Amino acid sequence: MKYKAVRNIRLCTKDCLCLYVCPTGATDTENSIIDVNKCIGCGDCAKACPSGAISMVPQDYPPQQSKEASILSLSHVLTHHKARQEQLAKQLAQTSSSDELYRLMKAFEKSIRLVNEDILRESGYMLPQSTQVHDLLKTWIQDPPLDDFPRDIAQKLLDMIPCNELPVKRYRCKVCGAIFEIKEGEELICPICQATQDQLEIIDF
Ligand code: SF4
Ligand code: SF4
Repeated sequence: MKYKAVRNIRLCTKDCLCLYVCPTGATDTENSIIDVNKCIGCGDCAKACPSGAISMVPQDYPPQQSKEASILSLSHVLTHHKARQEQLAKQLAQTSSSDELYRLMKAFEKSIRLVNEDILRESGYMLPQSTQVHDLLKTWIQDPPLDDFPRDIAQKLLDMIPCNELPVKRYRCKVCGAIFEIKEGEELICPICQATQDQLEIIDF
């Protein structure tokens, strides 16, 4: 897995050790930026930093654990209802005539949002580049859960953060009988006997 260095400027004491050890000149203590285009992920800066201000973060996150269709379907229903509840609490706060009711509804609005975020995380929607998130956003763009759902922003998010999980197909090798999975775009070849495409057949999951 490839990594990139990220500096936490709150912890940085600007002693420039990272600058001295970096082999590519990626760190810049003047503007506190680590240039992602120059960083080769060697980790020397993180080791040298006396303040623990540099973390090495994965460049590509691994795919999420897959979820059963029934779980995904239930989480769609739940999050839809939670989004509606949040919207109602927001409307009640906006139309409330008393300060107490306003604050209560604002607290509801925030707590419902937090619960909804937890449901989404637990249902496999932690990473914006996962298949689940992409599929859900596409669903919401077509059929918005709320009248003011920001479809253009959701579309922008889809365009900016590509999916990191390529579709997988399962094959059986007609020569050696091996069953294996190949991601879209990978070479079609049996990993056991090296039989090529015309000797592989697709099988259902
Ligand atoms: S990880 Fe290596 S290349 Fe990247 S900023 Fe740190 S020292 Fe430089
Ligand atoms: S080595 Fe750490 S504390 Fe020093 S300038 Fe670099 S990031 Fe900041």
